[in-house]
Amino acid sequence: MAPTVAEEAVAGANKQQQPGKAAALAARDASGRLEPLTITRRYEPYVTYPLCRSTGDDDVAIKILYCGICHSDLHSIKNEWNNAMYPVVPGHEIAGVVTEVGKNVTKFKPGDRVGVGCMVNSCQSCTSCDDGFENNCSNIIFTYNSVDRDGTVTYGGYSSNVVVHERFVVRFPDAMPLDRGAPLLCAGITVYTPMKYHGLNSPGKHVGVVGLGGLGHVAVKFAKAFGMKVTVISSSPAKKEEAMERLGADAFVVSKNGEEMKNAAGTMDGIINTVSANVPVAPYMGLLKPNGKMIMVGLPEKPLEIPPFDLIMGSKTLAGSCIGGMRDTQEMIDVAAKHGVTADVEVVGAEYVNEAMERLAKADVRYRFVIDIGNTLKTSSD
Ligand code: NAP
Ligand code: ZN
Ligand code: ZN
Repeated sequence: MAPTVAEEAVAGANKQQQPGKAAALAARDASGRLEPLTITRRYEPYVTYPLCRSTGDDDVAIKILYCGICHSDLHSIKNEWNNAMYPVVPGHEIAGVVTEVGKNVTKFKPGDRVGVGCMVNSCQSCTSCDDGFENNCSNIIFTYNSVDRDGTVTYGGYSSNVVVHERFVVRFPDAMPLDRGAPLLCAGITVYTPMKYHGLNSPGKHVGVVGLGGLGHVAVKFAKAFGMKVTVISSSPAKKEEAMERLGADAFVVSKNGEEMKNAAGTMDGIINTVSANVPVAPYMGLLKPNGKMIMVGLPEKPLEIPPFDLIMGSKTLAGSCIGGMRDTQEMIDVAAKHGVTADVEVVGAEYVNEAMERLAKADVRYRFVIDIGNTLKTSSD
């Protein structure tokens, strides 16, 4: 019988000549151009020859098979948030197979299908962490471009393998494909969390989704799975037909069309704003009902401008939301599998990554690029 993908991944990792080494794609400066780079992953060196341990006691070693391209990757490699620590290896929508686990690991075993999202560690002892909101921990360690506990800079999922504390690893449900599921690790949890905590997940409510990109299209799918009325507010008229026919949105408003915006005014219980660019938010506030809430998840580089009258008249709320905790991330992917929510993806080879970035900058992707790491990223043993 032919070996499964999981068996092949474990066998491949065991053959790896240099434990701790990984092939990666890295940006070296604010041009954002991604080039091959060999990086070092956390591992425990040879303890007893020939038994070589590559995995810390609480760690899970993962062979990466797919990694989504989030707009945050683009902001980061171009240093748009002014915090890049080059070389930057982006990628926090990671899906793959466990190759090895440390001795304290109880939740995973080699061969398991798993994912890693935007964070790889946190203090694990503050109130936020205790409550399951590691995303709000002041000592959060992001999957890339973050200083790890050992002082090294973290490298993300545009890479052949990764080693992560088991708390920050998510189990893929059997029904969830790795390629279409990878984007849920960031895009999915980032829209699921505000819907859950701002009451935008109940049947009959009307939610607006601003920006139909990676995050936005998953928000539409979750909202429909929750039985809500969904209106997409987009700057791209060309997305109307597919938004309504393929993604199941109930209505589509072109944000630059004053007439359409006027007709939709005062109709929405909540809005998830996923726009990646500096676009005025005040016009969207006008779409909310009294007491409506707009949750910002998009992260453009410049400050928001919001006239107080647009917020105060109608007693509106403007809130922010940062990814989500690990318990919610597991819940999100389980809910997604149950409702058949996956990302619409364009799977590309590692060699296409720079072109993919250029297209993402122009909102020219339906709706998430996913890199086929397993088949196209060359490792040092190839
Ligand atoms: P994306 O796939 O590029 O989608 C962003 C969408 O915004 C575009 O498809 C486009 O939708 C709209 N847009 C882009 N430029 C615009 C412009 N100049 N004017 C008006 N609309 C514009 O990006 P993404 O991966 O979904 O990420 C969206 C944002 O969320 C990024 O800033 C990212 O960094 C941030 N993010 C935040 C979190 C968090 O925890 N809060 C997590 C992940 C990502 P239309 O064509 O429909 O207008
Ligand atoms: Zn992301
Ligand atoms: Zn903490």
